[in-house]
Amino acid sequence: MKIYNTLSRKKEEFVPLEEGKVSMYVCGPTVYNLIHIGNARPMIVFDTVRRYFEHKGYSVNYVSNFTDVDDKIIKKANEEGVSAREISTKYIKECKKDMEGMNVMPATTHPLATREIDGMIDMISTLIDKGNAYRADDGTVYFRTKSFKEYGKLSGKNIEDLESGHRDIKVTGELKEDPLDFVLWKPKKEGEPFWESPWSEGRPGWHIECSVMAKKYLGDSIDIHAGGEDLIFPHHENEIAQSESANGKIFSKYWMHNAFLKVDNEKMSKSLGNFFTVRDIEGHYDLNVLRFFMLSVHYRSPLNFSDELMESAKRGLDRIINACENLKDLMEGAAEKGLTDDEKIKLDEAGTFRAKFETAMEDDFNTADAVSAVFELVKWANTNARLDRSKEFLNMILMEINDLMDILGVKTDREEKSHEGGLEKSDIEAFIEERKAAKKEKNFQRADEIRDLLKAKGIILEDTREGTKWKRI
Ligand code: AMP
Ligand code: ZN
Repeated sequence: MKIYNTLSRKKEEFVPLEEGKVSMYVCGPTVYNLIHIGNARPMIVFDTVRRYFEHKGYSVNYVSNFTDVDDKIIKKANEEGVSAREISTKYIKECKKDMEGMNVMPATTHPLATREIDGMIDMISTLIDKGNAYRADDGTVYFRTKSFKEYGKLSGKNIEDLESGHRDIKVTGELKEDPLDFVLWKPKKEGEPFWESPWSEGRPGWHIECSVMAKKYLGDSIDIHAGGEDLIFPHHENEIAQSESANGKIFSKYWMHNAFLKVDNEKMSKSLGNFFTVRDIEGHYDLNVLRFFMLSVHYRSPLNFSDELMESAKRGLDRIINACENLKDLMEGAAEKGLTDDEKIKLDEAGTFRAKFETAMEDDFNTADAVSAVFELVKWANTNARLDRSKEFLNMILMEINDLMDILGVKTDREEKSHEGGLEKSDIEAFIEERKAAKKEKNFQRADEIRDLLKAKGIILEDTREGTKWKRI
C-alpha cells in the first residue's frame, strides 16, 4: 500500500511500526461553533483511511482530539455570558451528532485538551530541562525554535527564509529571544480560564496539546499523523519540533494532509455568504450524500462544493442504491437452487471490479477511482441480475456492492425519513396495491390519480415485468 507522505513529498510503501497495527492521530476541530463542511472533509477522508486499514485486517488505534480551550471559545463564551466549558461541551456534542450523520466512526479515543494539562506541564518541563524552551519574564514559556536542527523539514521552509519573513515585523510586548520562537504556555488574561503551573497561572499553547495527547494515547512514535493542509505550517511543524526534542524519537512516520474544500470555487467565508455548516447541508441532503460527494475526489485534490456537484453525487449514489434495491426485489422471487456454472463464471468476472477498487485504494487511497470501480460493478450488476438467476448469485452481487461501499462508509439503504407530507414505505406500498387493483378493474382514472398523487410527494413509479417499483426523487 502506498501513502503520499508530506514529510518526504513522495508516495511511500506503508510499513507499520508494529505488524498488524496502525496508530493514527488526526487533529480535531476547535469547538466553538457547529462544524462546517470544510471540517467535515478530514473527518470523512481519514475515517475512510481507517476503514480501509481495518478491512485489510489491521487493528487501528485512532485518536482525534477536541481543542476545547482557545481564544475563539473564550470569545464566544464572553459574548454569550457563559463559561468556556459550557461552549465546548455543547459543540462537542453537536460535532458528535454530525459525525454520526456522516457515518464517521467514533475515534478509539477523543481526548480533550483541558483534561490533559498535567501531561502538557510535564512535556514543557522536559523541554525546558533539555534547553529547548525557556520562561520569559511575564510567565510565558517559548519553544526555542533554532534548538531543533530539523525545523522546517515537514513544510520545506528553512530557517533563513522564515527569518527574512520576520525581519520587518517588530513585535511589541513580546519577550521572545527570537522572533521564530513559539508559545508553549501563556499566562492568563483577566476573565480567562487558567491552570496552575510552575511558570504562571495560564493555559497551554495549541501545538503542545496535540504533541502530548498523541504521546499519551499512542506513544512517542506513531504511524500516521493527519489533518488539513493548512495545519502543515506552523501547527504540525511545531508538533514535530516539540515531540522530537522532548522524546528523542521520530514523532510520526507518515504525514497525511487533505486539500481544502472550496465553495463555488471560492474560499468559504462568512462574509462571502458561502459558508455552510454540516447542519445546513443536512436540511437539504442526507449526509450520506455529503460523504459520497467528498469521496468522489482524491483527498489531495482541491474539492469544490456546489449545488450541481451535490446533485450529481446524489444521482450517482441513487444509481448504486437503486441497483441494491433491484437486487433485493429480484431475490424475493428467485429460486434457491445453488450457483449454476454460468453464474460462477459471471462472479469471477465481477471480481475484476473489486480488484480495481483495491488497486485504487492501495494507491494513496484514491477513492475517486474506487468509486468508479463501484459504478462499473453496478452497471455490470444491472445487466447480469435477472429474474431467472439463483438467489445465491443475486445475493453475492448485492454483498459485493455493500462490502465495497462499506469500506467507503457510504450506506446503501435508503433512509426512510418520515418528513412532513412525506410518505412511509408502507403507505407507498399500499397505494401501489390499490393502483394494481384499480388497473385490474380497468379503473384507469384512479390508477393515474395514484401515480400523480405519489409523484407530487416525490415518489416515481416504474412498471416493470417484475411488477411496479418505486423510488424517491
Ligand atoms: P480547525 O477547527 O480550524 O482547527 O479545523 C479542523 C480541521 O478541519 C483541520 O484538520 C483543518 O485543516 C480542517 N479544515 C478546516 N477548513 C477546511 C476546508 N475548507 N477544507 C478542508 N479542511 C478544512
Ligand atoms: Zn493538532
